[in-house]
Amino acid sequence: MRGRSGRRSRSRERRRSRSRDYGRDRGYGGGGGGRRNQAGSNLRKPRWDLSRLEPFKKDFYIPNPAVSARSYYEIEDWRNSKEITLRGKNIPNPVFTFEEAGFPEYVINELHKAGFKAPTPIQAQGWPIALSGKDMVGIASTGSGKTLSYILPAIVHINNQTRLSRGDGPIALILSPTRELAQQIQQVANEFGKTSKIRNTCVFGGAPKGPQALDLMDGVEIVIATPGRLIDFLESGRTNLKRCTYLVLDEADRMLDMGFEPQIRKVIEQIRPDRQTLMWSATWPKEVQNLASEFLKEYIQINVGSLQLSANHNILQIIDVCQDYEKESKLSTLLREIMAEKDNKTIIFMETKRRVDEVTRKMKRDGWPAVCIHGDKTQQERDWVLQDFRTGKAPILVATDVAARGLGE
Ligand code: ADP
Ligand code: MG
Repeated sequence: MRGRSGRRSRSRERRRSRSRDYGRDRGYGGGGGGRRNQAGSNLRKPRWDLSRLEPFKKDFYIPNPAVSARSYYEIEDWRNSKEITLRGKNIPNPVFTFEEAGFPEYVINELHKAGFKAPTPIQAQGWPIALSGKDMVGIASTGSGKTLSYILPAIVHINNQTRLSRGDGPIALILSPTRELAQQIQQVANEFGKTSKIRNTCVFGGAPKGPQALDLMDGVEIVIATPGRLIDFLESGRTNLKRCTYLVLDEADRMLDMGFEPQIRKVIEQIRPDRQTLMWSATWPKEVQNLASEFLKEYIQINVGSLQLSANHNILQIIDVCQDYEKESKLSTLLREIMAEKDNKTIIFMETKRRVDEVTRKMKRDGWPAVCIHGDKTQQERDWVLQDFRTGKAPILVATDVAARGLGE
């Protein structure tokens, strides 16, 4: 028995190392395939000597006269009405319109084209801070417009740097917990970056490395990445962070929940310490606070909404504590209620993959248009399922919570 399993694992090891060599010969693929017990163990932390680093500019903010002229009381009134609390030194006044933020005309045109009328609170207060080159933390609930809060300043930042040379890595790096979120961010980067020809790419696990590696090697100003896959590419030299001066940690709370902390540390170590760092989160737990105090310098923090924010307050939450055996009948009563209304959609979270499969099977048997996702599904299956859920073809989604991240709106 023991002998057999030993043989099997040896031959598997051989196969694995052969495919690794093959990847290298082809020019991409890299070292991520084999040992990965220690994230980024092949990456050394560079020794930073600030006096020898190429200088760069990160403060681009010129306050609009109308913005500077507003009185302290007017600003405080506005902040109170939006439930904004701030911490930090030299906090700039908020802007009330897109024009006041001082974005280039082509960015403002895109905002109007998107049908947006005014900045959301996190944007109104966040843009002047981000454009000043300061480190910042933005805490605001899901759907509050955090993506544009960092993408538009990123565009300004990038357009003011020397152009990328051959072999240069990205200027802006955005770390995101999941593929789905990374792709949503990419859509925003595409929409607002295209007029100034800013190139971006999205790198994430669970998809072939080849095309992602080619994009990286072509040169892109913005990389949107999940931490693990980025480390693979850094280790294999497909990209580097020597030019990176604008770092975004999006959904910091979720990244930590998903156990990405070691990878995040590894990545940050590779970036020059005088970069600008912007961290975004829907909640502000101890772990996120620790990360901020370790990696951000003299940062300004904005909270929109309650300081104890842990859930979206625009949503009515009903919590029904019940016995295990009651769950299924309660679920069908609830579903009948919800699905009676046209266009309603339902997401049901389960703790385990096994339960997700089981419950979905039962619901389908009872005639409900249910689909499911969890970590064991292939990326392609997940894409199909999400597509069907978004379009309403399958309005009931059963999921483990990790798999469901990135559903967004
Ligand atoms: P968050 O990251 O805070 O969850 P998103 O950045 O994904 O939020 O934005 C949520 C939605 O709000 C998106 O559909 C986005 O297009 C929209 N949005 C962003 N900014 C504005 C704005 N200023 N006015 C109207 N809608 C906006
Ligand atoms: Mg977001």
